[in-house]
Amino acid sequence: MPPPDKRLLDSRAMSSPTQEAASVTHRSAPRRPHAVVIGSGFGGLAAAIRLGARGYRVTVLERLDGPGGRAYVHRRDGFTFDSGPTIVTAPFLFDELWSLCGRRFADDVQLVPMDPFYRIRFHDGSHIDCYADSERMRQEVARISPTDLAGYDRFNRLSAEIYRVGFEELGHVPFSSIMDMAKVAPDMVRLGSHRSIYSVAASHVRDERLRFALSFHPLFVGGNPFKVTSIYGLITHLERKFGVHWAMGGTGRIVDSMVRLIEGQGNAVRFGAEVREITLQGRRATGVKLADGEQIPADVVVSNGDTAWVYRNLLPGLARRRWTDRKLDRVRYSMSLFVWYFGTRRRYDDVPHHTIMVGPRYRQLVEDIFRRKVLSDNFSLYLHRPSATDPSVAPPGCDAYYVLSPVPHLESGVDWEERAEPYRKAVADFLDEGTLPGFQSEIVTSLVTTPRDFQDRLLSHHGAAFGFEPVLLQSAWFRPHNLSEEVERLYLVGSSTHPGAGVPGVISSARVLDRIVPHADALA
Ligand SMILES: Cc1cc2nc3c(=O)[nH]c(=O)nc-3n(C[C@H](O)[C@H](O)[C@H](O)COP(=O)(O)OP(=O)(O)OC[C@H]3O[C@@H](n4cnc5c(N)ncnc54)[C@H](O)[C@@H]3O)c2cc1C
Repeated sequence: MPPPDKRLLDSRAMSSPTQEAASVTHRSAPRRPHAVVIGSGFGGLAAAIRLGARGYRVTVLERLDGPGGRAYVHRRDGFTFDSGPTIVTAPFLFDELWSLCGRRFADDVQLVPMDPFYRIRFHDGSHIDCYADSERMRQEVARISPTDLAGYDRFNRLSAEIYRVGFEELGHVPFSSIMDMAKVAPDMVRLGSHRSIYSVAASHVRDERLRFALSFHPLFVGGNPFKVTSIYGLITHLERKFGVHWAMGGTGRIVDSMVRLIEGQGNAVRFGAEVREITLQGRRATGVKLADGEQIPADVVVSNGDTAWVYRNLLPGLARRRWTDRKLDRVRYSMSLFVWYFGTRRRYDDVPHHTIMVGPRYRQLVEDIFRRKVLSDNFSLYLHRPSATDPSVAPPGCDAYYVLSPVPHLESGVDWEERAEPYRKAVADFLDEGTLPGFQSEIVTSLVTTPRDFQDRLLSHHGAAFGFEPVLLQSAWFRPHNLSEEVERLYLVGSSTHPGAGVPGVISSARVLDRIVPHADALA
């Protein structure tokens, strides 16, 4: 992916009279080709903004009662809970979307830099704070393991190189052809992409805690750090270069602002609108049919739904060439998540905004989740306390939290109806023992989501939280292409297409869309 294009940002940051006139022309044009976007996750909303900016009339269809998908917002009892993403990286991707509409992201959303980015707490009571400032971070590394400092510096240099190739150069390549893959193969080999990120970290530093700190990031996009390609080492550099941020009001503030951008382009986001079928003429998409029978014609259809689900369920009668049921059965799906949202009537001011808690059996836990697919009675957790930074997310004097535990997806056969409450209680007792003493009697609101929610609410195959697992042979050309291999005029954005999960990944998938979708004029 190219870095933010300064000229583009500057020229589009303020809407000029000419641009305004151009956008009015779009609105009053007699025939604008119609694009339907299925789903209002970050990828779908970014796609809608890009299509709107290109002159399409756009309708986003979302089955839930609000936008965001994995970034949906639960509001209850005066608390605001972002259901998913909380760590905002690569803010320039948002600047770019806003600039396409002649606006400035900063006018709608206030991002505050996090420093430290997060705290990693280990089961032996030690911790690492990951600082934005490089020198301070080096001091932290030296505090943990002075002999690893040189290896840490080397890892950072490698991460910067992986970022340059993996993010700046490849993030925006459509990978629709095997030739795209062949072109990048030498770089991939040179950067050791066949190795796991953990093994690359381990070859640079000896301290197990530092190895964790340099390699855990794929867990945030559904990857197993012991298996995922070391290309994901770019995240360390991405964080260092652009920072880690919090959106005041919550990530949902970004989502809502994107919906407003789409509406400002004269386009629509409809809720409670579930697509049951992508209608076809031969092998060409002609629109969609909703659960209530309504038919909506379209010149292009963009799916932001889970690819496995969409191919299995929304194209009845189509003989699929590549993504057959048999092939989709052989795909490795990412892990799922157990997430407990709760609010307390008091504050725990010594708890940081982001804490990652690493259990004693971390490596076996990852095996349990990804390979053995069993629910472990031991866990590593991510604890989110947004009220540490942003008082608006909880009533005065209160704290908002979520605690997230990676768990196997539904192929595990775990009966979540039965297991959810005992699992929640085990997590609560664990937090009570160390991080949040006595908090259980302070809880005033509580909501649990399990892999069943990923399947039943978000229509994700096997309840996977991040679509296809990001292993090398399911990345780039091997992933479902953004330009559908099955149906003409069907495009895919979001987690289970290229480049992959995570907010920067799915927004980048909409950037790829921009390169492959026909110009609206060509269809008018
Ligand atoms: C708990 C959690 C924490 C995370 N934390 C971070 C983080 O801190 N930072 C980060 O960068 N990433 C994070 N991620 C990952 C990130 O949130 C996701 O990868 C990203 O938001 C997914 O976006 P998407 O475009 O794939 O769409 P999704 O969010 O998957 O949305 C797809 C939408 O399509 C709708 N839909 C599906 N089928 C249909 C249909 N047939 N008709 C109509 N609508 C349909 C769904 O209802 C849904 O709203 C996190 C994810 C989770 C779950």
